[in-house]
Amino acid sequence: MRRKLVIGNWKMNGNRAANSTLLSGILAGLNDFGADCAVCVPAPYLAQCESQLQGSAVAWGAQDLSVHASGAYTGEVAAAMLVDFGCRYVLCGHSERRAYHHESNELVAQKARAALAAGLTPVVCVGETLEQREAGQTAAVIGAQLQAVLDVLENSELIKIVVAYEPVWAIGTGKTATPQIAQEAHALLRAQLAAKDAVAAASMQILYGGSMKPENAKELMAQPDIDGGLIGGAALKAADFLGIIQAV
Ligand code: PGA
Repeated sequence: MRRKLVIGNWKMNGNRAANSTLLSGILAGLNDFGADCAVCVPAPYLAQCESQLQGSAVAWGAQDLSVHASGAYTGEVAAAMLVDFGCRYVLCGHSERRAYHHESNELVAQKARAALAAGLTPVVCVGETLEQREAGQTAAVIGAQLQAVLDVLENSELIKIVVAYEPVWAIGTGKTATPQIAQEAHALLRAQLAAKDAVAAASMQILYGGSMKPENAKELMAQPDIDGGLIGGAALKAADFLGIIQAV
């Protein structure tokens, strides 16, 4: 049995006062719902998460990291720095990074490696655009995105990653993938993982992301290959985020 995992991706939102309210709201409403939960926040707020969430059931993490360990890379944040602030997770290759920062499949794979080397759990994001889906390229696109990561990891590392399927057309648009569409993509990804390591594939958490809300979370999470959610907009309100965790 895979445990469900719900991760909030705050993107570039928040300030100290709002974060404090949001985190206290989550902590106050959290029961033992049988799901793991985490928030991935802008780097300046990692210290705030560490002080507010330490010892709680809510883990925290970052939204990106550098492939470099240290040195002359102005503006970048190293994996070891994330570990220094108690992070457990780091998103790798979110579609907004791929689109706006031209992150290639190979760079995303290197980021996943850097995260693993530091002891972090990389959440490797894959997903097709609407254009690619309509052209019948979904399997090829998400397959290539995942394969680049599989190519650089040892089988022993594979069990330590999380994959998130986030169709780009569903992110922030209010258009959630139907449970069937999402399940189909998740099953493809798990089969691809199984071709490398069947044991790791069976235990790997594959999250769905893209306009997940309390109202649609239950049906999505009921799919056999959907092991949780990567939540954007709905992670910014404690009630919505808790509602999704409760749906598990
Ligand atoms: P959304 O974002 O839930 O607002 O669609 C999900 C994501 O981009 O991780």
